[in-house]
Amino acid sequence: PNWERRVRASARPRSKTGFTVLVTGAAGFVGSHVSLALKRRGDGVLGLDNFNHYYDVGLKKARMGLLERSGIYIVDGDINDAVLLKKLFDAVPFTHVMHMAAQAGVRYAMQNPGSYVHSNIAGFVSLLEACKMANPQPSIVWASSSSVYGLNSKVPFSEKDRTDQPASLYAATKKAGEEIAHTYNHIHGLSITGLRFFTVYGPWGRPDMAYFFFTKDILRGKEIKIFETSDHGSVARDFTYIDDVVKGCLAALDTAKKSTGSGGKKKGAAQLRIYNLGNTKPVPVGRLVSILEKLLKVKAKKKVLQMPRNGDVPFTHANITLAQKELGYKPTTDLEIGLKKFVKWYVNYYGSKKKSAW
Ligand code: NAD
Repeated sequence: PNWERRVRASARPRSKTGFTVLVTGAAGFVGSHVSLALKRRGDGVLGLDNFNHYYDVGLKKARMGLLERSGIYIVDGDINDAVLLKKLFDAVPFTHVMHMAAQAGVRYAMQNPGSYVHSNIAGFVSLLEACKMANPQPSIVWASSSSVYGLNSKVPFSEKDRTDQPASLYAATKKAGEEIAHTYNHIHGLSITGLRFFTVYGPWGRPDMAYFFFTKDILRGKEIKIFETSDHGSVARDFTYIDDVVKGCLAALDTAKKSTGSGGKKKGAAQLRIYNLGNTKPVPVGRLVSILEKLLKVKAKKKVLQMPRNGDVPFTHANITLAQKELGYKPTTDLEIGLKKFVKWYVNYYGSKKKSAW
């Protein structure tokens, strides 16, 4: 049928690497950038996304338009749909899965806990089951999160640090994902690399993230809330530019060993890895706002409040020694440069199309 032909054509690799990659969450922020980068270097790419309504579906469709113009097809479906996954793995011999689909955001979990369990736990298991049964078995690279470090007070966060105090249900589901990855590696011989992203930002970003809605509110003259810690300290984030994160994702794909279908401890066994992908330069949110004010040439109306207990942590800061050593990961984009690119995109996208941002 037509559908299968489109799926196969989209996933045909054109490079010598011969990689054929299924990208879940391909209509999302990181997934769309990763898909385009893979396609650009000649890998075969097929997207999968359920276009959920967590934020503006119009933005997801616009990203899809970009991907389609590059010859990438996105299947509209859910990672929990085992029948669909089987059909996809039967149609295409995927060498890799880049798993970016998830219910993101920490605050939304207060009202919608089920969507985190659905996408981040049940959905991840469903995808790993499909990988386990596929022939060939793909290697998997997936997005965990810096949120697993939770209320850890030791900075910078390194991969060996404790992750037993998740501050949100989102963080708990990402931590659960890491445990699930361990069992599928250990029992079923899947090669799985988890990447702990640190506050990724950039063009085509996520409207629920602070840099994005601050830009929108500053331009509209709406008051923005800046939170400080209970002892009046600054809330800070290790903002990491999307292009740097994408390079880290591709390096993780390139260094992933093959899945072996046999348990983790045998010779030539499948690998289980976890890496921080951050910027190593935490920036207070107040500084983020002043950069935006400068770029937008508008003074923000600010209100400083004490941080509520809504799942956010006071600060994040990545130690990236391991990713540097094993992936050659090296972020190079300063926050001012990256935000300039974001603002340029934002003004162009929302200015010309008169869409509502969130
Ligand atoms: P995003 O919400 O833009 O992208 C996720 C995509 O997955 C969306 O398009 C959504 O429609 C899709 N999706 C969700 N549930 C699905 C399901 N059950 N089946 C199929 N598709 C589904 O988020 P993002 O910022 O691009 O994040 C990508 C990944 O990185 C996520 O796993 C997220 O948790 C993780 N992460 C992101 C950041 C960040 O700062 N952006 C930080 C840490 C971790």
